[in-house]
Amino acid sequence: MSNVVIVGTQWGDEGKGKVVDILTEKADLVVRFQGGNNAGHTLVVGGEKYALHLVPSGILHPAKRGLIGGGVVIDPVELLKEIDGLTQRGVKISPDNLLISERSHLILPYHQALDQARENSKGADKIGTTGKGIGPAYEDKSARIGLRLGDLRDLAHFRDKVKEALGEKNHLLTGLYGAAPVNLEELMAQAETWAQRLTPYLTDTRRQLQAAVNRGERVLFEGAQGIMLDLDHGTYPFVTSSNPVTGSVTAGAGLSPRAIDGVLALVKAYSTRVGSGPFPTELSDQTGHDLRERGLEYGTTTGRPRRCGWLDMVVVKTSVELCGVDHLAVTKLDVLAGLPELKIATHYLLDGARIDYLPADYRDLERCRPVYETWPGFEGNLSGVRRLGDLPLAARRYLNRVSELAGAPLGLVSVGPDRAETIILHDYFK
Ligand code: GDP
Repeated sequence: MSNVVIVGTQWGDEGKGKVVDILTEKADLVVRFQGGNNAGHTLVVGGEKYALHLVPSGILHPAKRGLIGGGVVIDPVELLKEIDGLTQRGVKISPDNLLISERSHLILPYHQALDQARENSKGADKIGTTGKGIGPAYEDKSARIGLRLGDLRDLAHFRDKVKEALGEKNHLLTGLYGAAPVNLEELMAQAETWAQRLTPYLTDTRRQLQAAVNRGERVLFEGAQGIMLDLDHGTYPFVTSSNPVTGSVTAGAGLSPRAIDGVLALVKAYSTRVGSGPFPTELSDQTGHDLRERGLEYGTTTGRPRRCGWLDMVVVKTSVELCGVDHLAVTKLDVLAGLPELKIATHYLLDGARIDYLPADYRDLERCRPVYETWPGFEGNLSGVRRLGDLPLAARRYLNRVSELAGAPLGLVSVGPDRAETIILHDYFK
């Protein structure tokens, strides 16, 4: 397989970082195709820990390249911070190994200001945005008033477009939200730095990607967030502003869906969700608390405790169907060790009727009662296990049932945070 996509089947935080890390070792090119710096994972390369938000993981390995496709929205301040942080630690970053789409959209200071002002005005109805301006930047892209990285090549034109945008944005910020306006001159002073530092990386990434595929390079597509946060297929409106589904590779990176050879879907062995929104299998009891403490389920950037619950196969099955999944990568199996019994939701009851799909209206989803199968728990420290057959029988039964309900075979099982703490069952990029 040459072109492999990694997606998260739940609400993100499935442990994609570690799996991306394992596959990056063998990939030539690593591609981001959607989202912004609201994503992020930690990778360990050569014993060093790196937190990445926008820069694709390939950059950490010499002779590999990272590509940020046009479907990604880029905060230039955060991108430069990330580049500088990595450079200071000895990672070599240049236009030779980091390719950025000239079509990707900029997140500008007024996007962040609007994101925060809007969320603050919502009181109890917050959707739990990270306030990084990602939603408003995608809104402008759809409204055809966004600024793209390529616009930085002509600052006079850039200034005209920002000035026009500020007419509307500052009216909203000051008039509707009582927030401070964004100053054109201050923004332009920053834009000069962005132009000078970022334009060398800009290129037609679609053509570069196609050329790499034609040469037979191994390409890894790093999905951000999880399918339940997909703008169209997730638990709207408690979703992200882009499409984490596999199909988004075509729009966001510019590659034919026929060129994708493999899809590896991450399934955390239980469920978590950050922020607001429906979560049918949520546990508010001691088990939920135990999962959070054992799994260290706290937000990486915000430190917010994640909501925890049993594995929901209605969610996973939906994602597997949407993404054309070849294999499952089940993560954090070790966290379940010691629980006397394990539950898997197979379907829901909505007002007494059995359903095996996610209703479109989040208020209906909030009324869904999960119906569980109960499986015996397992004990012991799994972190040293490297072969499926060496797992406790109950753990194998649990995994088999997950695979059966998802309708996809297991490709990998993760039994600890370390790269070595992994059972590899299918070798992508063989
Ligand atoms: P992402 O948002 O999907 O990329 O998830 P992260 O990469 O942030 O992973 C979430 C956390 O889980 C990280 O702290 C990982 O080190 C940790 N992690 C990943 N796999 C495992 C595992 O199998 N077991 C345990 N205990 N922790 C894991």
